[in-house]
Amino acid sequence: MTQASGAIMSNYIAGEWAAAASGGTFERRNPAATTALVGTFPQSEQADVDAAVGYLAARHGEWADVTPERRAAILHRAADILESRQEELARELVREEGKTLAEAAMETRRTPANLRMYAAEAFRLTGQTFPSGDGALVLTLRQPVGVVAAITPWNFPLNIPSRKLGPALAAGNAVVFKPSEVTPLLGQRLVEALLSAGVPASALALLQGGPATGRALVAHPDVAAVTFTGSTAAGQAIHAAVGPARRCQLEMGGKNAVVVLEDSDLDRATSVIAKGAFGLAGQACTGTSRVIVHEAVHDDLVTRLAKYVLDVRVGDGLAPGMQMGPLATDAQLAKFLDYVDVAQREGAHLVIGGERLDDPGHADGYFVRPAVFDSVTPEMRIAREEVFGPLLAFLRVCSEEEAVEVANATEYGLSAGIITRDVARALRFARQVQAGVVKVNQPTTGMAMNAPFGGMKNSSTQIYKEQAGDATMQFYTVDKTVYVSP
Ligand code: NAD
Repeated sequence: MTQASGAIMSNYIAGEWAAAASGGTFERRNPAATTALVGTFPQSEQADVDAAVGYLAARHGEWADVTPERRAAILHRAADILESRQEELARELVREEGKTLAEAAMETRRTPANLRMYAAEAFRLTGQTFPSGDGALVLTLRQPVGVVAAITPWNFPLNIPSRKLGPALAAGNAVVFKPSEVTPLLGQRLVEALLSAGVPASALALLQGGPATGRALVAHPDVAAVTFTGSTAAGQAIHAAVGPARRCQLEMGGKNAVVVLEDSDLDRATSVIAKGAFGLAGQACTGTSRVIVHEAVHDDLVTRLAKYVLDVRVGDGLAPGMQMGPLATDAQLAKFLDYVDVAQREGAHLVIGGERLDDPGHADGYFVRPAVFDSVTPEMRIAREEVFGPLLAFLRVCSEEEAVEVANATEYGLSAGIITRDVARALRFARQVQAGVVKVNQPTTGMAMNAPFGGMKNSSTQIYKEQAGDATMQFYTVDKTVYVSP
């Protein structure tokens, strides 16, 4: 079943599309034109969580018993469906989240590719055997963990869920998926594709709702594992609620820096930083939010980024040639404007931007001009806290050593970059910077789908990081050690 956008949408529980038990709903509107309704969605509560988890907990063994060939074939079919709807999905993604069409198209291409990659993992779930005496056999039996809760953010509402539902289903788990309340429509679209492809009701449920729905889901004792991507604050609350006896995988926030030293190519630095900082309107976990720059090139680089901000085309992502869409929600807008204010009160210098765009072409949406600050010190809040918007903080340093020290002076450790042609310097930086991903001459955003991904410090759980290949499947499977005597 595919419902039209703007319609009243449903949860998917126990094989039925249904309203929330309470009848409660919430709305999602287009962030580029907030009068336009994207859809009305069920506000799921405890009763819906109990129904979804209870049904899957009683039946998840059915999907575990399906052959790897069939599980993989179904994931490939879901990928086919998503590919056949790529254009339509990209437009819905722009309307619901606020990306530009080019950004949305990248996501609608990546999502089916993820499903295909994880489909292959269904065949590779191997165990081990161990030498033993007396003709006995000792082996590990690899099984799905059971019911997995997948809780996701709004900034990649197809890509991130596909990196959780794909491996979870490939391994034979049942999944309760709670998309972000900001992008419920795209969450539903992914579920529709999986169900149409043949994922059975015993393996998948969709619960719409916000943090309260997420909290009820995480607390349910029949949820064996929680995979979460979102803010560090929510991740830490989930970690505490899950406790030590259940599995928890957390991909969280970032405060990503690019280091520019006296040897850096400033043309390249400007384009790499602008892409990393203002792509997705700065709303990427790996987005560049700090530029740590040698004093010899500081003023030149600030001027170049200011020029970029002056020229950047901000508008509805469906309009041709737009380089930056709106912020996703009124809360995101308020947070951005608040940080612009806080930064100035703490003594940072606003070089350009930082204001809401309220001319007739922009007044209906959450549009802003990106903000560039210099005279930022490592103690200031814009140097330490995740803004999650198009705000760039310039920190001036005198040496490579100081640059690394400043880069490491946050609680986060997701992505970091350096602009240099000096291989020794690049490798030194890669070794010394506290980040799970290091980019040399590339934006801090944009990851290979088949490479390990995850952060250090408060950006990720340090076990069960989201990875490619078997490392991902470790989270979604449990090993039992079996002793067999003849
Ligand atoms: P968020 O933490 O507010 O919400 C994420 C999801 O968790 C949503 O579905 C939300 O409803 C749910 N949720 C919130 N509080 C919860 C709780 N206490 N218990 C259970 N569920 C809860 O994040 P967001 O605003 O949707 O997304 C932005 C954040 O996500 C940023 O911090 C960004 O850095 C991070 N992010 C990280 C990655 C990564 O891979 N590291 C990728 C994308 C986004």
